[in-house]
Amino acid sequence: MNHDYEVAIVGGGHNALVAACYLAQAGKKVIVLEKNKEFGGATKSVYAFEGIGAKLSRYSYLVALFPDQIKEDLNLEFETLSRTVSSYTPSGNTGILINRIYDKESSDSIAAFTSNREDSDAWERFYQRIGEVARLLAPTMLEPLKNEDEIRSLLGDELWDEFVAQPLQVTLNKYFKDDLVKGIVLTDGLIGTFASATEKLSNICFLYHLIGNGTGEWRVPKGGMGKLVEALLQRAKSLGVELRNGTEVTSVESSSDGVNIKLKTNEELRCKILLSGAAPKVLERLTGIKAPTFRDGSQVKMNMVLKRLPKLKSGMDPKKAFAGTFHIDESFKQLEMAYHQAKSGEIPDVIPSEMYCHTLTDPSILSESMQAAGNHTLTLFALHTPASLFDRDHDLVKAEVSKRILAGLNRYLAEPIEDVILNDALGKPCIEVKTPQELEAEIDLPRGNIFHRDLAWPWRTQSEQGKWGVETTDDRIFVAGAGATRGGGVSGIAGHNSAMAALERLAKSN
Ligand SMILES: Cc1cc2nc3c(=O)[nH]c(=O)nc-3n(C[C@H](O)[C@H](O)[C@H](O)COP(=O)(O)OP(=O)(O)OC[C@H]3O[C@@H](n4cnc5c(N)ncnc54)[C@H](O)[C@@H]3O)c2cc1C
Repeated sequence: MNHDYEVAIVGGGHNALVAACYLAQAGKKVIVLEKNKEFGGATKSVYAFEGIGAKLSRYSYLVALFPDQIKEDLNLEFETLSRTVSSYTPSGNTGILINRIYDKESSDSIAAFTSNREDSDAWERFYQRIGEVARLLAPTMLEPLKNEDEIRSLLGDELWDEFVAQPLQVTLNKYFKDDLVKGIVLTDGLIGTFASATEKLSNICFLYHLIGNGTGEWRVPKGGMGKLVEALLQRAKSLGVELRNGTEVTSVESSSDGVNIKLKTNEELRCKILLSGAAPKVLERLTGIKAPTFRDGSQVKMNMVLKRLPKLKSGMDPKKAFAGTFHIDESFKQLEMAYHQAKSGEIPDVIPSEMYCHTLTDPSILSESMQAAGNHTLTLFALHTPASLFDRDHDLVKAEVSKRILAGLNRYLAEPIEDVILNDALGKPCIEVKTPQELEAEIDLPRGNIFHRDLAWPWRTQSEQGKWGVETTDDRIFVAGAGATRGGGVSGIAGHNSAMAALERLAKSN
């Protein structure tokens, strides 16, 4: 076969671009084929509202998992900023404030809320333990997969039992007494994952949320998430990667001497190796390679632009309350209740969600006049709203879910959020809501699953036997996106690992 490219990559999300840069740096001829007009997939920044100078991270918004090593290897101009506050959780007329660095103010806040120091002391011990896990696991993410025994001896039996062997619920009950404190911790086991705290899937999700770069710190992408895409595109261009947007791949056929790709434009391309930055379910449609089963995406994302920050019933300074993650109705019991209601097909009465104000850490995503006017952005991520809820009557359910989410937020505000939402140039309120179905329609996330499929333990298991966690049943085709083992989130890890696998395959033979 006459090959047009050594490697072709389906999809132009951030992972695909990371893979393309590594491959081009190794001297390979690479093309990236992205269906949409813009590259970036779930890492796009956009001006979402007519005439409003706010460039929003439309989908993903915080970075923890992106290893510094990738930034250095690819020489990327991309900066992330620390938040001063980790989280604020209102409850009635009071709340719990946790600063990014767990200090006296944070531990006093938990102690005042729970009326004793048990949970405030436990918090420190718990996060020291998970910090240890992060330090040990993070360096393995860009290496060939270790097996379970190797990871177990790396972590030691105690950490293994607490964070891997026992369901998260058991470990949370061991450390914490208070329902709200437990819930705040549990949320990291549920973001993007439709699970109960009794299921191992929440342990896996928890690990991904706490081990990033060896610290688990969630940082703000300076200038918005789209800056990562810009940096990657710039690097890819300078390395000679061919970048084609508005180019949908419609089928892929692999044979012993190469891979044939058909595009919607009826063009055909030939390559030696194909990487899929699109989800495994999309790859299944293109090739017939079976995707793993996975749960529905279960979040609703809301983006808002505000005239100013709203006041809180608890009296907490909004600049503090919204600077970190603002937890709404996320006690342990509320989270479990919402999960079980949604699982049985009902819209949860109380929808747990969390919210965050990007502009308190990085005002640069607003125009100068908006900054001067005191405008802000809010991004809200609601849990336990699976795609299945919206299947029957999408628009009606979307309206009801949105109403309940905003009612939840308003329970803690001294003034309704609707009163402080800015209007766009057409007089419409600056609020957009994305259901799982809309995420699938816009960026091909199957059933709106933000990780392309269920997250998997970041080591070799019975269901994952490949060397890099990116292999498929076809030795010319690799998964390069979030659906790889160790792939979920804005991490570039799947991109790096698929590039390593492709280079090894190319070195073997043509
Ligand atoms: C609402 C939301 C909030 C999130 N928040 C965070 C967060 O704050 N932090 C975090 O770390 N992670 C977050 N995530 C998860 C994270 O964004 C994703 O896991 C990650 O961006 C996936 O990147 P990717 O490059 O693997 O794939 P994607 O970004 O999904 O890109 C895949 C690309 O493939 C393209 N494609 C699909 N089919 C074809 C085809 N046939 N032909 C050509 N192109 C095709 C798609 O258009 C898309 O551009 C969030 C995700 C969502 C949706």
